Parts: sequence; structure tokens; C-alpha cells
Amino acid sequence: MDPQALPSPVLRTIPRDQHTISRRDISPNALRVLYRLREAGFGAYLVGGAVRDLLLGRHPKDFDVATDATPEQVRQLFRNCRLIGRRFRLAHVVYGREIIEVATFRANSDDGSGDREMEDGRLVRDNVYGSIEDDAVRRDFTCNALYYAIEDFSVRDYVGGFDDVQARTMRLIGDPETRYREDPVRMLRAVRLAAKLDLSIEPATAAPIPVLAPLLGDAAPARLFEEMLKLFLSGHAVASFEGLERYGLVASLLPDTAAALRSNRSGALRRMLLQGLANTDARVAADEPVSPAFLFAMLLWPAYCRALAGLLAQGMPGEEAQRRAADRVTLRQVQTIALPKRFSLPMQEIWLLQERFSSRQRRRVFRLLANPRFRAAYDFLVLRLAASDSHAGDVEFWQQAQASSGDELSDSLEAAAAAREGDGEADEAPRRRRRRRRSAGAVSG
Ligand code: ATP
Ligand code: MG
Repeated sequence: MDPQALPSPVLRTIPRDQHTISRRDISPNALRVLYRLREAGFGAYLVGGAVRDLLLGRHPKDFDVATDATPEQVRQLFRNCRLIGRRFRLAHVVYGREIIEVATFRANSDDGSGDREMEDGRLVRDNVYGSIEDDAVRRDFTCNALYYAIEDFSVRDYVGGFDDVQARTMRLIGDPETRYREDPVRMLRAVRLAAKLDLSIEPATAAPIPVLAPLLGDAAPARLFEEMLKLFLSGHAVASFEGLERYGLVASLLPDTAAALRSNRSGALRRMLLQGLANTDARVAADEPVSPAFLFAMLLWPAYCRALAGLLAQGMPGEEAQRRAADRVTLRQVQTIALPKRFSLPMQEIWLLQERFSSRQRRRVFRLLANPRFRAAYDFLVLRLAASDSHAGDVEFWQQAQASSGDELSDSLEAAAAAREGDGEADEAPRRRRRRRRSAGAVSG
């Protein structure tokens, strides 16, 4: 790392009576690990997101520990311990479903994925143990570099993080541009943590983001996929998306969607996307399941609509154009974000099923209802009302179809078919035209 990028650490100790962290709010297992390390004569601190969240009055989702004990020494202290990572080792102390991650102080920047070294200003390996001061300055934001010491219940601050947390500010440690170049994913972490914790990004930390956003194109696609799930499936999807927009990051993550949103003058596609993200946040808040397939179906729908419109305009037949558009959008997107097949295939199915909702043919109706992806596709159909209500009749039909018994549905479909036949040929032609217009409606949103 460029040594000039990092400030010199200066210790400030915030005593127990001047901060709000209470042992009652710390996981008993984390306390056990801290005390055991301490009794064995090692330094042991709660660190990172947990300290930050506790100071903000929130419940941390996990508790990480930093120590001067080596991973081998940690293993000797805990029977329920396993070492992970090859070149850079971390200790996991396992208590049932809770894992306390114990990391030895290290002297380099790291994103938690281990094994890093410098290459063209970027970190690709990290395997050097260090002092607590080294450990503090290699972290990303000052609010993430606070240490809660079990021996005197004080908070140790080497980079000004305590005041930043009080001011609800995110500030990169050291020179922001250098730190983003080392690890461009920090730009996403800035937006994500600001959205999740309702913090503001300090101007010097925010300023380089729109300029350096294209560096995300070189980040590891698998890591970007993980980061996307954290951005959008943790209950703060709307705030995250607005943050990504604000800092010019959407075009680097979802290039085709960004282009489609730009060319969609009415804003209908953006409206639909934000509605979908708001629904996702509501589901997370209600502890209902959310799926990466549905998430990416929403995020890439604008790109799909645009690709499909282009192919239809070239005269490609409907079904072929749909399949081609779905494949094209997926293939292009996985170059940036490694969306696994087990999610991209159901995502494509959600898109391709949209066209089938206009059919009232008895056999097709029952086949669609029995499709394992029916529910997701139907929810997506409903979501599309946020962009356009040209298919409101379909939504109503399928809502009733789900509510009625098989026999009722069968009877009413047959009655409707008979009525159409009774009306004769004259009615058939306009009906078909209407259906075609509906397909065009799907393309525009
Ligand atoms: P969350 O609440 O999402 O878990 P977190 O801050 O705990 O937020 P983690 O990914 O769990 O995020 O990382 C734990 C700690 O490791 C961070 O608080 C930070 O100190 C450090 N860290 C994580 N990612 C990076 C990075 N890319 N560069 C430098 N330090 C990092
Ligand atoms: Mg964490």
C-alpha cells in the first residue's frame, strides 16, 4: 500500500462512562471469546461493524473480534474453533448457529476475502500480521475502525471514528482516491452502509466516487454479486439504489439497465423498479423471503425491455425475440456481476412467462397455473402495473383464476370461449389486435 495514503494513528481512549456500549448488548458468545483471550494474556477487542452499530444504538448482526493472538494460538484456546482461509488465516469460534470471527491484527488492507497483494495500485493479497494501530488504519471507514476493549470497557479510537459516528458521518481512512483504487468495492460499501445506517458520506469521501465508478468494472464479478445481495436484500434497497444513482454507480454495475432507464423518457421503468425495491424492503421488514432471481428480474427488466424492443423492431418474431433478449441481457450482465445460473434461469423464466398471461385458452391457463414459477411471474405482472396499466385486465383475470377452484375456472373459461364463438368471426380479429398491442405494452414497461 502507498504509505502516504494512510494517516498516522493517534490513540484516543473513550472511557466507559463516555460511550453507550453496554455488555448487555453484546452477544454472550462474543463476550466469552473476549474474556478467554484476555485470561490467556492476549489483547482482545470487539471491532468493526458491531462497535459501530452499538454506538448507533442498533443491534449488530454479527460480532467480530480482533486480537494479537495468532490463529494457531486462538485454536489452542477454543475446542469449537476452526481455521479458515489459506494464506491469510482467520479463526471461527462456533457456538451452534453463531460464529464469532476472530482475526489477528493485520498490517494491510483487506476486504475480508483474504489473500491480497498489490497490483497496479490494487490489493490482491494480504497476509501480514501487525499491531492494533496497523489493523486500525488498514480498515475502510473511520466508523469501522473502533475497538471495544474488554479489560476496561473503553472504546479505542485511532482514526477519529468516534466523533464521526457521533456526527453520523462516513469518512474513508487516508486518501480517498488511493483507497478506492486499492479496492473499488469500497465505493459500494460507502453507499450501502450510508443507506443502511442513515449516515452521510463526508464530501472528500464522496467526491471521487462518480469519477472512479468505472473501476468497478475490474472488480471480481463474484464479489460484486455478493455485494449486490447486501445492497438490495438487507431491507434498504430503495435507499441503496438512490445512493447508487446519486453517486453515478448504476452505469458501472448495471450498464444496460442504466442505458434503458436513460432512454425511457416517461420514467415508467424507474418507477416500477423503485416500487419493486420498496416491496422488497417491506418483505424483509416483515421477515418474508426474498429471492435473488426476482431481484435481478426487476433490476434487469429495463434492459430486457429495451433489448426486446430492438429485436422486435428488426422484425424478429415475438417468442424468438424474447428468448434472444433474455439471453443477451444475461450474457452481458454476468461479465460484471457473476449472477449464478440457479438465479439467472428463474429470472429469465419470470420475464418469458409475462407474455403468457394474455392467453385465455383453457389448456394454457391451467399449464401456466401449474408452472413452478407461476407465483413469481404473477407477482412480477402485478409489479408491472407501476409502469403501465395496459395489462390490468390480465392481473384481474389471474387473481380470480388463483382464487377459484379448478372446476369453476374451467367452467368460466369454457363459457367465455363459447361466448366468443357465438359472437362470431367479427369479434376475433379485434381481439387478436388487442393482444398484440398488449405485447408492445410489455416492451415499453
Ligand atoms: P455489515 O454490517 O454489513 O456487516 P461491516 O462493516 O461489519 O458491515 P464486514 O464486511 O462485515 O462489514 O467487514 C467487517 C470489517 O472489516 C469492517 O467493519 C471494516 O473494518 C473491515 N473491512 C471490510 N471490508 C473492507 C474493505 N473493503 N477495506 C477495508 N476494510 C474493510
Ligand atoms: Mg460485519
